[in-house]
Amino acid sequence: MDELDVLNRLKDAGIEVLTCMQCGTCSGSCPSGRYTSLNTRRFVRMVQVNMDMLHCEDLWMCATCYNCQERCPRGIKIVDAILTIRTIAVHEGIMLPEHRKISHLLLKHGHSVPINDSTKQKREKLGLEPLPETVHKYPQALKDVQRLMESCEFDKLVAEK
Ligand code: SF4
Ligand code: SF4
Repeated sequence: MDELDVLNRLKDAGIEVLTCMQCGTCSGSCPSGRYTSLNTRRFVRMVQVNMDMLHCEDLWMCATCYNCQERCPRGIKIVDAILTIRTIAVHEGIMLPEHRKISHLLLKHGHSVPINDSTKQKREKLGLEPLPETVHKYPQALKDVQRLMESCEFDKLVAEK
């Protein structure tokens, strides 16, 4: 897929980024940008000029808080654009190794962060049952969860390419 397809896919999804005037309100509102390389204004500019966003690490730095989208004076659906590009990337087999790893944990355990002894102890200290009301407590339901994920081909989506 070339970069032009990404712009067209955004347009098809009703997302127009070409009206961005580079005011920087989005970057100034971005909590993630304070701690990561993400510069939302620059990101939108890169999308506008058809740069390869599928391999851009900033794509994965957004916390989807929607601050930028709510404040953009041009009403640009910035986060929707980021999520759409992420979706395209994953369908092209491009994702961070960390995301692939937690996806595999989800497929195997029904949890992206399976519980451990330390968390069980903390739950008990808080007066909770050691296991939450999930497949951890009802392991017989794990097969159903896995079947659900397979039925929407999540397993194929996150398989090593
Ligand atoms: S707030 Fe909107 S118009 Fe301003 S730089 Fe960001 S995307 Fe562009
Ligand atoms: S939604 Fe993402 S890009 Fe926008 S302000 Fe929040 S973290 Fe930053």
